[in-house]
Amino acid sequence: PISANPVDVLIVGGGIGGLSAAYALAREGLRVRVLERAREFGEVGAGLQIAPNCTRILHDYGLLDEAKSLGVVPQSMVMRDAVDGSELTRLDLVDLEREYGFPYMVIHRSDLHGIFLRACRRAGVDLITDAPVSGYENTPSGARVTLEDGRTDEATIVIAADGLHSVARGLIVKDEPVSSSYVAYRAAVPVGQAGREVDLSEVSVHIGPHCHFVHYGLRGGQMLNQVAVFESPKALAGEEDWGTPDELDAAFAETCEDVQAGIPLMWRDRWWRMFDRDPIMTWVQGNIALLGDAAHPPLQYMAQGAIMAIEDGWVLAKHVATRRAADGAIDWPGALAAYETVRPEHCRRVLTTARAWGELWHLDGIARLQRNALLRARDIYDYSFTDWIYGPTALTPEEEPPMFTPIALDSVPAADLAEASVG
Ligand code: FAD
Repeated sequence: PISANPVDVLIVGGGIGGLSAAYALAREGLRVRVLERAREFGEVGAGLQIAPNCTRILHDYGLLDEAKSLGVVPQSMVMRDAVDGSELTRLDLVDLEREYGFPYMVIHRSDLHGIFLRACRRAGVDLITDAPVSGYENTPSGARVTLEDGRTDEATIVIAADGLHSVARGLIVKDEPVSSSYVAYRAAVPVGQAGREVDLSEVSVHIGPHCHFVHYGLRGGQMLNQVAVFESPKALAGEEDWGTPDELDAAFAETCEDVQAGIPLMWRDRWWRMFDRDPIMTWVQGNIALLGDAAHPPLQYMAQGAIMAIEDGWVLAKHVATRRAADGAIDWPGALAAYETVRPEHCRRVLTTARAWGELWHLDGIARLQRNALLRARDIYDYSFTDWIYGPTALTPEEEPPMFTPIALDSVPAADLAEASVG
């Protein structure tokens, strides 16, 4: 066995999803162990945007001040056309915080991961590394996992937070990750190396034909975070070796000066091919439940992947708390059913909206001009597009807000379709 100490909950995967769920459950007095495949707990990558539906939960956990001290709370999010550089629309993040009660902020992934890791340590979570799980089974009294080296471990409940390539997901569905043919390059550099004026009071998003470019500040504004995403012609042609740096340069060749100035800073030795999976509505099999990317890996256009993972653990822990008898016994079937009644539908909405939102960003030709006209006409203080996502995380389907109604691109009159003058 992994350990002689029995636990109530075993969590497989110590990413942001696994650790935040571990903390949520440990806070409710449960004994929790995390099994992480890697030699050390950590996160690769760069920045993460966390919207009010996540900072609300961080506040509930007592972790928001720490997050704010490590991240940046920008004043606006500005969306621009990547070709002509003109502004299309914006969110006033100061007003948005007033609207939703909690800030929209940006933080280094490893800083957010570190906040949860330290919180887990304080809460007494048993944190085990070098523990790759290869098998799962339900038992009469709970569930058991088997590691690659043959060791086993068991608990009343097993939560699989093992990411996009989840082994546990195979218990529920035989599906594969879906390639978008898009690839992301990242960079996080000291702001002095930016080589240009950057306004770190903004989260800046340039959207363009088959590409987009994001930048914002990290670590109190000392670092600049950039993400450059594009559609790979080699992926579309079915080639194995796709998303390479030559494709990065070609993809951004026609973009405005501001975007082009950022491209030389991108890390060129690694890149992230963008996959999601089709939504699934079953996440629980007996005493085993999926959480985070294992259940709902999105394309990143809504910037809600890590947030959904954090919401999953928060929702599950709330349902556990309300189903505990005076003697401490938990109605686990009830708690897991309540979790599965509310989370898959919310995440399905985010996954499908992320695909559509990405397509809208990457339009070309007349459709790009129609999109630009629609975005420019938008009232920047109209929150009907964000209520369903930035409002309080629903605990029941009844609490889940209705989704917005999308506006059709061809509703834009032809007279409105002039190219904007270069700003
Ligand atoms: P992961 O982070 O994948 O963690 C899984 C963990 O499980 C890992 O530690 C792994 O080592 C471990 N593991 C895997 N298999 C096993 C095994 N067999 N046994 C034991 N351990 C195992 N989200 C946002 O909210 N905001 C953003 O702005 C944002 N931007 C993004 C930008 C990009 C370019 C990308 C690619 C993603 C972005 N996301 C964003 C999404 C976010 O990164 C993910 O949704 C989130 O990290 C998922 O967390 P997770 O813990 O579920 O999975």
